Amino acid sequence: MEKFREILKNYWGYESFRPAQEKVIESIAEGKDTLALMPTGGGKSICFQVPALAKEGICLVVSPLIALMKDQVETLRAKGIGALAVHSGMTPRSIGITLDNAVYGNYKFLYVSPERLSTHDFKSRAAEMKISYLVVDEAHCISQWGYDFRPSYLEIIKVREIIGKNIPVIALTATATKEVSEDIMEKLGFREKNVVATDFSRKNIAYIVKEGEDKLGSLLAICSTFNKSLGDGSGIVYCRERKRCAEIAAFLKESGISADFYHAGLGKEERNIRQEDWKKGKTKIIVSTNAFGMGIDKADVRIVVHVDMPDSLEAYFQEAGRAGRDGKPAWAVLLFDGSDIKKTRQLVSVNFPSTEYMAKVYQYVFNHLQIAYGDGENTIRKFNLMEFARAYSLNAVSAYYAIKYLEQEGYWELTDEIDNPSRIMFLVARDELYNIQMGSSIMDEFVKSLMRTYTGLFSQMVRIDEEYIARITMDTPQNVREKLQTLSRQKVIRYIPQIRTPMMIFKCERLTENNLYISPKRYAQRKEQMEKRVEAMIGYATQKSKCRSRYMIEYFSQPVTRDCGVCDICLSRKKLSDRKIEEEIISLLNASKNKRMSFLSFKKEVPPALQERYITVLRDMADKGIITAGDDGFYLNQ
Ligand code: ADP
Ligand code: MG
Repeated sequence: MEKFREILKNYWGYESFRPAQEKVIESIAEGKDTLALMPTGGGKSICFQVPALAKEGICLVVSPLIALMKDQVETLRAKGIGALAVHSGMTPRSIGITLDNAVYGNYKFLYVSPERLSTHDFKSRAAEMKISYLVVDEAHCISQWGYDFRPSYLEIIKVREIIGKNIPVIALTATATKEVSEDIMEKLGFREKNVVATDFSRKNIAYIVKEGEDKLGSLLAICSTFNKSLGDGSGIVYCRERKRCAEIAAFLKESGISADFYHAGLGKEERNIRQEDWKKGKTKIIVSTNAFGMGIDKADVRIVVHVDMPDSLEAYFQEAGRAGRDGKPAWAVLLFDGSDIKKTRQLVSVNFPSTEYMAKVYQYVFNHLQIAYGDGENTIRKFNLMEFARAYSLNAVSAYYAIKYLEQEGYWELTDEIDNPSRIMFLVARDELYNIQMGSSIMDEFVKSLMRTYTGLFSQMVRIDEEYIARITMDTPQNVREKLQTLSRQKVIRYIPQIRTPMMIFKCERLTENNLYISPKRYAQRKEQMEKRVEAMIGYATQKSKCRSRYMIEYFSQPVTRDCGVCDICLSRKKLSDRKIEEEIISLLNASKNKRMSFLSFKKEVPPALQERYITVLRDMADKGIITAGDDGFYLNQ
């Protein structure tokens, strides 16, 4: 373990592993096939990244979404760790080069999107690689009993056959019922069953549910209470709609509470500023859509309030779990009313347009981007959903969910924003360049830096990174961009700045109407899964008999040792029994002479283990004026 801790310290700068991480890493280090169940944000990546760094060879990671993959690869690279990615957004040539690097280069990680696994290119190179571990992230995608089944995940077992069964497989997921866990281990060909689960209970979080129409009133009451006692701590209010985020934040501000809002519709810079202000404590409460929270690890969040019902208990558990990371008391409050239940149920039909409709959308997308039948594999295109919907008179929301469904089926991937790096190329020959007057020595120097930093600039478009150039030229990225624009205007270079627009990445060729098959069985299964998830969420909110924490943990098929004692259900139960004690005391007094009792005889009547409880209730009764207590006894007020 010491060796692993050192790696953690060196690359991540963290002092220690979380207890669950330690358990997973121990299992992996023993070379066992391991299924790790850990809530989102629990730190699953480190569980395989650290052991992989400690072992010889390259770690093969299968991950469902290209966007997620790029993120992880960039994070690793920023730490100076050699990481590669292969996905359908790349040209066949760069896929080839990357795979060669994985075989011969000195790299520690190769991320592969599942649809690439079955290609000849990949299979032949995989056999040559020295692989340390086979990692399957978001492993529930392999199970058709899971909510996010992706058929291409079934290819993973074939990879295992190619690389050899003795290479340990590590599967990670946040949510797996017993059924799904079993399925994952079977489909991945585990040599021996081995699940390492985290303790899902968060003892310091008090889960509270409040039903009522006046959500804003309740929210204000909660925020005002905490505004006084927050200290340096802060809060998050989750809300479904962007517009409402702004409204609620304004409402809180008017009421004298430090608040701001955040959603994906704000520019990147604006989002960063607001997030930083909140992190630093300049803003106490952030009102946000679920776009907020990715990668946030603020320790002192004291309250997380949901003013709309999330679509699943998984999502709720994750968002509520941002409270109290420091282990100190924290509150997670869900506010809901009757219309929430209706709206949440409606989500199912919104998420599942008919298969006929989806087949139509499928063809429209290709028409829109002018891609012919048989074409399109491995292409990446800008895609504007609103324009698309307008062009084909579609409801944008329905079109979006049709596209997302087809994404699960593995046809394509729509990413919100993908970095298409900036590119440049010289339009003048090298010799000519020396004769051209750039206009200033600053520009001369700048051009020389470009030539020193990148190769091939005279023959092709080359990817560049303005921030990197800024660093080596000791300039700001903004200035670098301006200089590149100037050179472009002077026709010295061609400059295509980075585009950050939604992109559609096609993983397969365009199929004809007759060849596109959307399995009705799978459709029905997925829909049923979503119905179950929605009902579990509604059940959590509306049930009144089970400890909230227990309800959630049992839903995740995890063992529960005892009730939390701090959620609204546990508290009301406690109150209920307080009232029983009160009634008992009154009947004791009624039965005694003059409705008076000495403390001595009172103690004789009360079971010793409960004496403290009884005395607390007695004090309450005195405070409420039901009884009057003296030096040696008390009596009932009439
Ligand atoms: P998951 O995949 O389980 O949702 P991630 O692997 O993305 O979670 O990690 C979530 C966050 O927790 C990351 O910001 C990560 O750096 C952080 N983290 C992970 N392990 C530790 C640790 N031992 N100490 C502190 N922070 C950690
Ligand atoms: Mg993860």
